[in-house]
Amino acid sequence: MKAIAVIGASLAGLYAARALRSQGFDGRLTIVGDEHHRPYDRPPLSKNFLTGAASPDQLALADAEEVAELDAEWLLGTRATGLDTGGRAVTLDNGRRLEADGVVVATGATPRRLPGPALSGVHTLRTLDDAQALRDDLGRGPARVVVIGGGFIGAEVASSCATLGHDVTVVEAAPLPLVPQLGDEMALICSALHADHGVTLLIGTGVAGLHSGGTDRVTGVELRDGRVLLADVVVVGIGVRPNTGWLEGSGLPLNDGVLCDEGCVTAVPHIVAVGDVARVGGSRAEHWTSATEQAAVAARNLLAGSTVATHGGLPYFWSDQYGVRIQFAGRRLPGDMPRIVEGSPEDRSFLACYERDGATTAVLALNRPRPFMRQRRELARATQPATT
Ligand code: FAD
Ligand code: NAP
Repeated sequence: MKAIAVIGASLAGLYAARALRSQGFDGRLTIVGDEHHRPYDRPPLSKNFLTGAASPDQLALADAEEVAELDAEWLLGTRATGLDTGGRAVTLDNGRRLEADGVVVATGATPRRLPGPALSGVHTLRTLDDAQALRDDLGRGPARVVVIGGGFIGAEVASSCATLGHDVTVVEAAPLPLVPQLGDEMALICSALHADHGVTLLIGTGVAGLHSGGTDRVTGVELRDGRVLLADVVVVGIGVRPNTGWLEGSGLPLNDGVLCDEGCVTAVPHIVAVGDVARVGGSRAEHWTSATEQAAVAARNLLAGSTVATHGGLPYFWSDQYGVRIQFAGRRLPGDMPRIVEGSPEDRSFLACYERDGATTAVLALNRPRPFMRQRRELARATQPATT
């Protein structure tokens, strides 16, 4: 393979580029990203960066030396607009046609938005620019912050806003947030963190619309049950959709992501997909560790020209909320029973194992990093299918 284009200059794209080089690819490597920044880390955006404890330069995923070592052409501030699978080229919004024998699709995901006109004071949080805009808005003084969506963005932003001293309400449409990830019992414990820190959690109600009092700035959030919450700042964290628009018409099978086999290889062997945009072996992960692990597997298969390795890593994520580190690993199915094996939920510090038919399927910890890591390693050994 002589030329590879990596589309998406963030976590998955950078890790794929690194993996290609470390696995011996010495041809032309081009990295295309529509943001103007070099790859940076998103997790701090809702945590330390929002509270002001981290600065933009602390977020970089690669230092200058590593960027130089990658020996890649970086096309930043440039959007891929199409993929010609037969002609082996990517079209760019500047009119350039980028020829490439291999393509890594790493275009991530974009926040879902509420319908209606854009209002100032209303934020989504995905990029450094989004986070900077929210940080600036929160810096104007004590605010009534309404967070719409009680998932990961919602919980972490609520925690950061509470740390900054704002008056925070979280609105969640489901009867309880984080149930798909943690199951009812553990989701209930994690949701209680909001009340511990003076944040109001309103569950089981969606949003009917935003109020602006005839101005261009948000003044309130109207709930489906008719209540209106006064708001100076609104953060919308209601999930994401994968960035596949530029691939429409390319012939690549798409369905809530780019469809790939277990080795991140699409229906076209010289095109692989990684990270939040990739539906790998039937499921799409939206977590940091999956993006990095998939990149190594995808690079290997791209260079081999077929699927010689699969991604069988144990799913893992963490979240930091109100000074509590939540860590989860494994494949939990509905009905798996959590059992506390050490610590106590009341102390917000415990380790729990989810069990099915006497076997552990997943592990969850609140503020128990060491025992969690031990248990995660054991679970990986016990459950991991043979890979690579
Ligand atoms: P992205 O990071 O979304 O990068 C995709 C890149 O491609 C973007 O720069 C995008 O602008 C660009 N792009 C899109 N379309 C095009 C195009 N057509 N042409 C060129 N470029 C394009 N995960 C955890 O496990 N733990 C955490 O604590 C955690 N915290 C998070 C906090 C926040 C605020 C956010 C937003 C995410 C968090 N995540 C966390 C999730 C994790 O950051 C993502 O899973 C990860 O960023 C996915 O990486 P990616 O490279 O696949 O996608
Ligand atoms: P998310 O985790 O999917 O959570 C969205 C939440 O909003 C869900 O609970 C959803 O409920 C609820 N919701 C949807 N529509 C709503 C509405 N109209 N009104 C009120 N609630 C509504 O997505 P997210 O929190 O927006 O996070 C975005 C992405 O960033 C995800 O990929 C996430 O994994 C990633 N992220 C990860 C971390 C982490 O791993 N620590 C941290 C931050 C961000 P339903 O489920 O019922 O739709």
